[in-house]
Amino acid sequence: MCGIVGIYGNSDVVRDIYQGLLAIQHRGQDSAGIITYDGRFHIKKGNGLVRDIFTAENVARLRGTIGVGHTRYPTVGGGGGEDAQPFLVNSPFGIIMAHNGNVINYSELKKIIFEKYHRLLNSDNDVEAILNVLAQELAEQKTKTLRPKNVFKAVEGVFKKVKGGYSVIAYIAEEGMVAFRDPYGIKPLVYGKRHDGILPSYAFASESVSLNIMNFFEIRNVEAGQVVFIDKNRKFHARKLTSCAHSPCLFEWVYFARPDSFIDNVNVYDCRVNLGSFLADEIKKLNLKIDVVVPVPDSARDAAIEIARKLNLKYREALVKNRYIGRTFIMPADQKRKSSVRQKLNPISSELKDKNVLLVDDSIVRGNTSRAIIELVRECGAKKVYFGAYSPPLRYPCVYGIDMQTKTEFVARDADLDQIAKRIGADKVIYQTLDSLKKAVNLGNKNLKNFCAACFDGIYPTGDVTPEILKKIEDERKLAQERQLELEL
Ligand code: SF4
Repeated sequence: MCGIVGIYGNSDVVRDIYQGLLAIQHRGQDSAGIITYDGRFHIKKGNGLVRDIFTAENVARLRGTIGVGHTRYPTVGGGGGEDAQPFLVNSPFGIIMAHNGNVINYSELKKIIFEKYHRLLNSDNDVEAILNVLAQELAEQKTKTLRPKNVFKAVEGVFKKVKGGYSVIAYIAEEGMVAFRDPYGIKPLVYGKRHDGILPSYAFASESVSLNIMNFFEIRNVEAGQVVFIDKNRKFHARKLTSCAHSPCLFEWVYFARPDSFIDNVNVYDCRVNLGSFLADEIKKLNLKIDVVVPVPDSARDAAIEIARKLNLKYREALVKNRYIGRTFIMPADQKRKSSVRQKLNPISSELKDKNVLLVDDSIVRGNTSRAIIELVRECGAKKVYFGAYSPPLRYPCVYGIDMQTKTEFVARDADLDQIAKRIGADKVIYQTLDSLKKAVNLGNKNLKNFCAACFDGIYPTGDVTPEILKKIEDERKLAQERQLELEL
């Protein structure tokens, strides 16, 4: 999961891109970058948060009416400075690119790109593979100026060669801005328009909230397998290149996206309220005596309020979050996750003492965070601690860009509900069913027929995830975690 923003505008775009990235900072806190264009590329990338990387001096230096920005969450690659996006290739034309997602045949592609095309990938970032495949596909067409058909053909080549889930924004110098979403549309991508000159400005982003904040309107989704090309005359061209079943990532609605965003026309907030309502139905069946419903801030709040309302229970925000500590799930090393829970959440004991507490969270991934929170609540004198997750048990690795790629990491691996409760120290765990999760999304958009639910049910929509690929990705992930730990110790 990463956040991407691109603008083809009428005046300097860096401030808009900066604001757009801030709006999707939750999608990645590891590094960020912006490249702008005014006849040459201006680059600023670094590790850390958007607000820490871009100073007044480097914002002033990033001139140009076209630009692409990125906020990174490490998947492939160890998260070093050289892996910060966007990436640039000089030939053909000069292309910049940023992506959100994960290329599952990255190592294989890296080898082919070097041996066959003599292009060296100089980082561990999979966007460099997409960028070089696109560059090669364009170069092979030997054209001096690009027409939409050249761009569509090149992206078709990318879709054939690059496997995985990815949304991409690129700018080809003096030719135009290109954005595309993988054939299954696993990762989100939207675009909008702003009438602020003779020609309209266009913006692309991972989430609609970025477009709202940058004052872009007429917001639409880039469809699964669709490429959008804004040419040098600011003419809009789009073509759907594949007919695979659109299968957006269900976890976007559960956790990743901001509640005020729309993902494939489904408002994330509404969806989380629906999820709360459906989980309340599950809880009701158990006849538990619950005194208070407490959300694990921030993502669980919307669902927890609905659970309390529907079950007519007291709702209390008894866990107070320190906003200045990063999201624990998003931090690279497992050790960091464990220690940061205590720094991040502080309980209000009076709301928990002698109570039967229902904690509500979006999901239970590794269980470390849930266990630490339950311990915290027990230390305050809670009588019983029930744990409700408004998504189903996570049991399978995500190969499409989410940092839960090793099966052994899941607390729900090979475990039933009682075993999971024991592992995290809860008196009971209550999960959402997968059907209810899909139903909650469908209440916002009945046209969504397929989803990526691979981390819940092990069915990978791209159909090409072999046990060997899973093992390889697991090994890469473990290695990256070890490297990260070494750096931190
Ligand atoms: S496996 Fe899970 S987290 Fe990964 S893309 Fe699919 S639904 Fe999203």
